[in-house]
Amino acid sequence: MSRATPVLSTRRQTRQVMVGAIPVGGGAPISVQSMTTTKTADVDGTLAQIYALYGAGADIVRCTCNEEEAAEGLAQIVPRSPVPLVADVHFHVEMALAALEAGVACLRLNPGNLRKPEEIKLVAAEARDRGVPIRIGVNAGSLHPDLYKKYGGATPEALVESAKAELAYFAEVGFEDVKISVKASNVPLMIAAYRMLAEQVDHPLHLGVTEAGPPPAGLVKATAGIGTLLAEGIGDTIRYSLTADPVEEARAGRQLLEALGLRERKGLDLIACPSCGRAEVDVIGVANAAQEALDALNLPLQVAVMGCVVNGPGEAREADLGIAAGKHKGHLFIKGKVVRVVPEEAMVAELVAEAEKLVKEGIEARLAAAEQGAEAEAEADRRALLEDRGVDANRSQERIEAIRRRVGGS
Ligand code: SF4
Repeated sequence: MSRATPVLSTRRQTRQVMVGAIPVGGGAPISVQSMTTTKTADVDGTLAQIYALYGAGADIVRCTCNEEEAAEGLAQIVPRSPVPLVADVHFHVEMALAALEAGVACLRLNPGNLRKPEEIKLVAAEARDRGVPIRIGVNAGSLHPDLYKKYGGATPEALVESAKAELAYFAEVGFEDVKISVKASNVPLMIAAYRMLAEQVDHPLHLGVTEAGPPPAGLVKATAGIGTLLAEGIGDTIRYSLTADPVEEARAGRQLLEALGLRERKGLDLIACPSCGRAEVDVIGVANAAQEALDALNLPLQVAVMGCVVNGPGEAREADLGIAAGKHKGHLFIKGKVVRVVPEEAMVAELVAEAEKLVKEGIEARLAAAEQGAEAEAEADRRALLEDRGVDANRSQERIEAIRRRVGGS
């Protein structure tokens, strides 16, 4: 019997902008972004990082354009990049114009620090003429001082007003090719600002929790903010802002979309039980070893590592492939069906070998190649373990009798 997949909220309808060949909004797949940490003037170093981000799942990459050398670097990087590039511009209108000249696919402007209306309109007009979109990147930490004063701080209303003021300048020169972000490091503030903005404009939204910090706390904060909004149908492109190698940002973005069913799985999804007193092996050690070995192969599989054969194969029956530990053995299972029983020390190696065969030959073929008697041997192990652990260690029967005597005697 197949179970229906729970559905997230319907995605918000937006207009679409094209960042190079990547559509953003208008029903397009949600894209993942990250940002390079190299000096943009270092062409080879930046390109190497862009390729690493692309490999980890980034669809769009942003580079800073903070000085003339950076703009010159962009002119060399753009034609060699595997993904469209966004130039990040703060304070200097000349850098925005230089980045457009370098051929970037999008600009990010911060209304908090590029404030002169005539300069904003100049950039918008130039972007309009070149057919290049702009992201209005509002940031709670660098909000326009007038708005900060008006609202007494960086409130959702202040962030939204900042974005809409910039939109109004753009509209004056007939430029509407815009996506917007209203980021904050405070997760509830960020969520409230995006919800409010989503009700007032039809532009695609770029989601992010800014300055989320190092993992794991940074990952948790970013996932809480971005994931909440995506589940509500809000958001068209996402970026994790982590104090870490940006490859982690791209990977996290891709993994979040895969976890929400918003992107087709391309890589490994390793699930593992949290372990408990029933575990027959060091689940953490086995899971880490399996993750390391399988990550290197980059196979599009869901693989389970379970600590015991009593509950493992059943609980992980949706996984493509899995291994469960029992009495110095490993039960290798495909879609919950045990196909082989292997020695404990060979668990990881057998799991990896089977993963490769599964991808090459398919599930049906590998189920058909199951070792004869594997299910029966597994069932015997399961029963033996249940009997071992079936001892009433908690003396529950004795306790129940005592309770009955107490209650009966009162
Ligand atoms: S699979 Fe077994 S070891 Fe892992 S948490 Fe469940 S009962 Fe415990």
